Amino acid sequence: MPCSESIVGQSWQRASARCECMRQMHGHMGRCNAELVWEERGKEGRGGWEVHQKSIAGGDEPSNWEILCGECNKLTF
Ligand SMILES: [Zn+2]
Ligand SMILES: [Zn+2]
Repeated sequence: MPCSESIVGQSWQRASARCECMRQMHGHMGRCNAELVWEERGKEGRGGWEVHQKSIAGGDEPSNWEILCGECNKLTF
């Protein structure tokens, strides 16, 4: 299911332009908090990020989406 632009925008605001990933297996302590750049969406490398759907069964409200940096997005399925 594609993510609408308004959800992307709301999730981005909530994340304060930083990676929201909390997965311990990635090697970051607590929240990743990598700094992200709005224009770098979909790119890898510094500032790159993507929106990730937490639950397929979840709805399309912002709480079901998280902002992940390129590194975390690569490691998350
Ligand atoms: Zn991250
Ligand atoms: Zn991570």
